[in-house]
Amino acid sequence: MSLQNLLDLLPDELESLAESLGAPRYRGRQIARWVYQKGVTAIDEMSDLPRAFREALAERAHVADLEVDLRTPSRDGSEKFVWRCGDGARVQSVLMPDRDRLTLCVSTQVGCGFGCTFCYTGTMGLERNLMTGEIIGQVVGAMRVLGGARRPTHIVYMGMGEPLANYTATVKSLRLLVDQRALGISPRRITVSTVGLVTAIERLARENLRVNLAVSLHAADNSLRDRLMPVNKGFPLEALLAACRRFPLPVRQRMTFEYVLLAEVNDALEDARRLARLLMGIRAKVNLIPFNDWNGSDFSRPSLPRILGFQSILLERGITATVRWSKGEDIGAACGQLREAVPA
Ligand code: SF4
Repeated sequence: MSLQNLLDLLPDELESLAESLGAPRYRGRQIARWVYQKGVTAIDEMSDLPRAFREALAERAHVADLEVDLRTPSRDGSEKFVWRCGDGARVQSVLMPDRDRLTLCVSTQVGCGFGCTFCYTGTMGLERNLMTGEIIGQVVGAMRVLGGARRPTHIVYMGMGEPLANYTATVKSLRLLVDQRALGISPRRITVSTVGLVTAIERLARENLRVNLAVSLHAADNSLRDRLMPVNKGFPLEALLAACRRFPLPVRQRMTFEYVLLAEVNDALEDARRLARLLMGIRAKVNLIPFNDWNGSDFSRPSLPRILGFQSILLERGITATVRWSKGEDIGAACGQLREAVPA
């Protein structure tokens, strides 16, 4: 019988596991503390559990943590982690310090099947979904590597893959992040990004998780978006924006729209005006991401005056618009740059 990965289990499930081994349910809460809060991977080190229970637990379960394959620091202070999963697949996370914030960007799939034309990760194709324990393992693993001194304050689901295409594992990992018995991170500090899977956005709206949503828009009309993001053919802008309007945003929270600026493709002032019209009536903020070049891409980054011109149109229309100079560009960790070689 294969062993159950404890990192795949919610605190309630850990309690049921304890009970199934003949122990009181609170033993499950103790396991959750060891696994999620202390980052312990050896069951034998869970010292407040009775020895006989630890032995019974080890026959049923283990902690399948991710191994750090590579740690690459960037000149700007960010750091890329390459993790190796149990089957040899590699995924990446990026840690980005910014004043008192420490944001960890996690992956949800090995590769990505959505094929956005400007995205390096998209050139990999989809290899497989990550399990819950492999998503949450990036957070626990980063905490372990950092030691007790620092801990990620914000988590963004913007690494390799489309989080909502791996819906069940993504949502379970979100529950682990916000559960006080597991990682206990405020949902306001968690952002899930999506390419715009309308049915999954509507499903997420019903989960009552209260996390932030970031929608990758990248074009303000359907014909251009069809070309840049094939997903638009299934979920065109009207349907996507309607789902965004219905999404239950907590008070004082805004929905983020990501817009990668591609020279002479989607960076004209008319594109900015169209974008502003599209977002009317939504509590929106726009992240403008000047394109990060990669070898073999057909796109380039617009000039600074063009970037600022685009931004000012949005600002004039009352839309908060920030230019995001990606972190980790020199280490291939910037937005749309994450790609990992497939192990031989
Ligand atoms: S932008 Fe996101 S959804 Fe599109 S190919 Fe890249 S990783 Fe996939």
